[in-house]
Parts: sequence; structure tokens; C-alpha cells
Amino acid sequence: MVKYGQKKLVLSAQQHQLPTDQISKFAIKVIKRLKQAGFEAYLVGGGVRDLLLGKTPKDFDVSTNATPEQVRRLFNNARIIGKRFKIVHIIYSNNDTIEVTTFRGGNAPMLQVEDAAISREGKRFEVQVNRDGMLVRDNSYGTSLEEDALRRDFTINAIYLDIQTGELIDFHGGLYDLTQGVIDIIGDPETRYREDPVRILRAARFSAKLGFKLSKRTLEQIAPCAPFLRSVSPARMYDEINKLFLTGHAQASFKVLTALNLFDQLFTISPMLLNSSTCRDFLSYAFASTDQRFAEGKCNKPHFLYSIILWNEFIWAFYEIRDDLMVSANNINYKSLISFLAAQVVIMQYRITAMPENIIRSIALLWRLQFLLESKDPEKYVKETTSYHAFRAAFDLFKLRAHFDPNLQSRVEFWQPYYDQCKADAERRRKSNEERGSHERSRGGRRSSRERSYNKREERRSNGRAEAGSFENFNETHADRQERMNKARDWRRAMNLEP
Ligand code: ATP
Ligand code: MG
Repeated sequence: MVKYGQKKLVLSAQQHQLPTDQISKFAIKVIKRLKQAGFEAYLVGGGVRDLLLGKTPKDFDVSTNATPEQVRRLFNNARIIGKRFKIVHIIYSNNDTIEVTTFRGGNAPMLQVEDAAISREGKRFEVQVNRDGMLVRDNSYGTSLEEDALRRDFTINAIYLDIQTGELIDFHGGLYDLTQGVIDIIGDPETRYREDPVRILRAARFSAKLGFKLSKRTLEQIAPCAPFLRSVSPARMYDEINKLFLTGHAQASFKVLTALNLFDQLFTISPMLLNSSTCRDFLSYAFASTDQRFAEGKCNKPHFLYSIILWNEFIWAFYEIRDDLMVSANNINYKSLISFLAAQVVIMQYRITAMPENIIRSIALLWRLQFLLESKDPEKYVKETTSYHAFRAAFDLFKLRAHFDPNLQSRVEFWQPYYDQCKADAERRRKSNEERGSHERSRGGRRSSRERSYNKREERRSNGRAEAGSFENFNETHADRQERMNKARDWRRAMNLEP
């Protein structure tokens, strides 16, 4: 197979022999419904790419010529999300959301704006670009698949599958690049990175995730365009970082990002520290262990990730200030110093990747607990330390540190039995909750209509009492509470939040 210019390549089902039975039934449902309504609809993006690579796709994306509003009207379970780039989520369950995007393209009038915010006055302009050429808003719709392909990021992500004919349609040589293990940006690299600097991080992510090389032209413009990353919203950066480091290829992401000189742009780590082997080896080891956890089906959480990445920055700042204070002050309030420094480091990071508030608090807690775990007299702190929900995560961080610091080994041995006990307790609680949940559910299923209407009456009565002014009088029935707890647990599990 040879890479060709802008020539379209179509492969029949017989030629490509893609295992289409792996395609989500929901994606097929969405495409069929769109087609029945007279629209065009194709499978595209990571779903097709991963199927072609023999991997299990993470999700499925659909591309259509229906506008987001037209898509929403066709599905009860659809939600339009995003202002900058409108897409439609069709939600079947927490794990089954199909992302539908409208063919981008066309010649909608464009507005030049000052910074990265969408202009209010220019609301009617569906395309807005800032002075650096960044697309602050891009909701100009095209009519053809070819136009849509031009707006996608990399050739390997712009291969379309028509599920009705079984044909694979490739406009930019993505199939060839897949065979060569190459990530090649579509169009002029500088323009494409300026339009959306996140494409730089996406190039790094796919290179790490798939083990692919960046094509020369894709690579060359990364360094000159990297400063544009500063204009990306911190919330979007936060999402991208999670995708880079929490999904099983953290160590490879670290390697690629450091090779591209991007890592220190993403995290508030002083270059001197990052260049030290102490810090690099620690991060590399910690990322490898994160990947190992992912491979074992355990979930990786953002607060743990940030606590690892920023640990050296925090602890060196702590040592420095402590040493200064020891010279000049008689009494140091360590608790306040730790909280103050943790807040400082985390807030600096927040400016780049807007972590949610609970994540920020958890990072600081994991760091604070390091001092208790490290204490020379650990017996004194057993009750306090193990009472924290974060104890296990804190001990995980501690063990990573101990791998490089033999002085901590005796503390690891001291705390390990408490850790094992906590883990066993959590497992027991989870099992008994599950059993209680399924018992309640099956009881609920067989419950008589009289019992159900009694519960409803109870609920109305207690609601009435609550409305009458006394909050304490609100009596949630046992069954309702169970149902609420089960729902919350299912949700947490689906969002990977369950320990
Ligand atoms: P995965 O879902 O496995 O992380 P993906 O390629 O499907 O990878 P998504 O973020 O789901 O990534 O995006 C779906 C598709 O939308 C991409 O394959 C690409 O064609 C297009 N796309 C996503 N983000 C951009 C972007 N910033 N610029 C251009 N095209 C993009
Ligand atoms: Mg995808």
C-alpha cells in the first residue's frame, strides 16, 4: 500500500475484513436512526482506528450531516454539549455514550476576537478565531464527508466506516499510516496547532498509547507552537492530562512529553528538579506502577496522580523553607507550614490544569499524611492516620517514596499491617453493601403493590412534614435509602470512583 496525496481510498468489507461484531450496538442504533431520518452517518475516530489495530475500542464516535439540533430532536436521550465545539452525547448508560459530531466545514463568516473567550457581542458568529489563530469557536458545518475529514486531527483518526455498505473510506492515507505506525497531522501543521493547541498533546498521547512515531512535519512544528498551549482553558488541560496519565500509558506519556520538552509546560516543576535523576526516576517508577494498576483493572485517581507529580516540588520547597526558619525562628508550626506550601504548589498548578476543589483538598491531605507516616514515633499517630479515608492512598505514595529512600523502609514495615487491615475492612464493607443491595433489589422486585403504595404514602407524609418546617422530621424510608445508595454506588463505580 502506498501513501497517496489527497486521493480517496475506499475498501470494501471483503477487502478490510474488520471485526465489525465488536462495534457497540448503541453506535449502530444511532447510525441507523440517523440514516432512517434521511441523514448521512458514519463511524469514525478512535473506534475505527482501534478496530483496525486489533484493539478493543474505548468509545465510538459518529459523524453526520445532521446539525446538533436535528440530532437532538431524533433522540430522547441526547444532550448537546460544548459551546466552543458543539457535539451531541447520546446517553444509553454511564458506560455507553455515543458522541455525535456534525460534519465540520463550510464558509461561515469568521470573527476575530481578542483573547481565548467567546465574544458575547459576536454570538451570531459560529466561527471565532483569536489573534494567534486559535479557534475559540468552531460550529461551522459542512455538507460533505471530505470536508469533515479535512478538519480532523490526524490521518489515522479520519477513517470512516459506513456500517451499511461495510466500506472504509480514507481521504488522507490514514490506512497507510496505521500500517507504518505513524501519526501524521492533516493539513499545515502550524495552522492546525494554532487552531487548537490541544492537538499537540493529542499527538503525544497517541504516540504514547499506540507506540507510534510522529511524522517529521508533525514533530517539527511542536516546539514552535508549544507556547500556544498557554491559551488553552485550564479545564480542558485538566481533562487532557487525565487522558495522558490515567489510562494505562503514563510511563510512555512521560517519556514522550519529556522528549518533546512539554512536561515542564504542563506541571509546575522547576526545570532543575525535573532534570535531576532523583525526580525523573521517581516519576518513571511511579508512572510504571500506575500503569500496572490500570492493567490489573484498578482505578487510578487524579488526586493521586498530581500528588506524585508535584511531590518533589512540594517537598523541596518544604525543606528549603524549614531550613531557613530553623535558623531564624524558635518554634515552627509545621502543620501550618505544610498546609501553606501545599496550597501554594497546588494553586500554581491549578492555573494550568483546573483541578476540581475536592481533588485539590485530597492532594494536600496525601502530602500532610506523609509526615505522619514518616514520624519517628508512629504508634502515636496510628489512630489519627488510619482514620483518614485517604490513608491507603497516602501509604501507596509513601511506598513509592520508600523505593528510593531506604530510611523509610522501617516505616513501611510498621504501617503495612494497618494498610492490609484497612483494605480487608473496605473489601468486607463493599461485599456486604453489595449483598444488602442485591437482597433489597430482589425484595423490591417482589414487593407487593400494597407495600409500594405504603412506602409512597410514607414518603408523601414525611415530605409533608418536612415542608411543614421541621427538617429532622424528613424520614426517608429504608427501601428508598437503599435504592439511593445503590444508585450512588453504581454511579461511582461507572465513573471509576469506587475504591
Ligand atoms: P480515544 O477516544 O481513543 O481517546 P479518539 O481519536 O476517538 O481517541 P476523541 O477525543 O474521542 O479521540 O475524538 C474523536 C475524533 O474526533 C478523533 O478521532 C478525531 O477525528 C476528532 N477530534 C477530536 N479532537 C480533535 C481535535 N482537537 N482536532 C481535530 N479533530 C479532533
Ligand atoms: Mg473516541
